[in-house]
Amino acid sequence: MSRGIFCLIGRGYKYSCVFSSGLAATTTISHLLKVGDHIICVNDVYGGTNRYFQRVAVHNGISVSFVDASTCPTNVVKAIKPNTKMVWIETPTNPTLMMVDIRETANLLKDHPGVILVVDNTFMTPYFQRPLMFGADIVLHSVSKYLNGHSDVIMGAVCLNDESLYERLVFLQNSIGAVPSPFDCYLVNRGVKTLAVRMEQHMKNGLAVAKYLEANPRVVKVMHPGLPSHPQYELGKRQCRGYSGMVSFYIKGALQEAKTFLSELKLITLAESLGGYESLAEHPGLMTHASVPEEDRVKLGISDTLIRLSIGIEDIEDLIEDVEHALVAAIPSL
Ligand SMILES: *Cc1c(COP(=O)(O)O)cnc(C)c1O
Repeated sequence: MSRGIFCLIGRGYKYSCVFSSGLAATTTISHLLKVGDHIICVNDVYGGTNRYFQRVAVHNGISVSFVDASTCPTNVVKAIKPNTKMVWIETPTNPTLMMVDIRETANLLKDHPGVILVVDNTFMTPYFQRPLMFGADIVLHSVSKYLNGHSDVIMGAVCLNDESLYERLVFLQNSIGAVPSPFDCYLVNRGVKTLAVRMEQHMKNGLAVAKYLEANPRVVKVMHPGLPSHPQYELGKRQCRGYSGMVSFYIKGALQEAKTFLSELKLITLAESLGGYESLAEHPGLMTHASVPEEDRVKLGISDTLIRLSIGIEDIEDLIEDVEHALVAAIPSL
């Protein structure tokens, strides 16, 4: 059963296997490497991946370089060393929602055949983005997010076309014991059946909230790859069929305004995680990305006023009313 769920959503790849969590998938993929190997990772990566690479993998003899792969994919190639064995990208990135050009990155890596290109596709799901089509070797999903969609499961998955890599991963999955529970498999089998309708609604609501925020004087800047103001809007149109419900923005003011906004939300819940039917809001600097070293947070734009929203599938007017109320409460005089 644990291999079966991806039949529902999987065209365009040959193999997949599922794990006890997205991070278990990350850990298992990292075990493809050995002591002395080097990973190049996009700098604006999921906080848990950053923590795993910087605080766990390094103690297992694996070195990691973080590069800005979104503004310039050649930064990846420039960071390649003789011992580089893996490139790890996420697109859109988290939490600033920049895009990485998967095809361009894969093309640049053609001159380095020993390097495995991994794409974390959690934010987009296969419904909106198919990295293997653009030349990625392994696609990773946190199933805990959109694929299950009901915030009641922790699971991870990988999809790939290469048979020998697949066999190595299945061997590692079994040896490490990073397997999902039967009950979680059952829940995901139910959740994934509505993936298409949920993703359409996440996209509609996410874009509506992004446009509302962009026009709001209490907001400094909105990041959403579907907004024409996004610096990589054109890349998004080439690479994705649509967008999830992820929206990040900078509120006017300082930390206090961000905190008040978050505490005044009523419909939207203050919580980490994302990709469920219900809307969530969080403060990356204090929550999901708190374990990213402060100097890196500053460089990445993870400031005191950055807020990340995972917009759910609720009524859009209710959502906008909630955001509006919290913005006014945070910044009463304007
Ligand atoms: C949540 C998440 C993960 C980790 O998944 P878990 O199932 O929570 O272990 C990995 N990548 C991204 C982008 C995520 O959002």
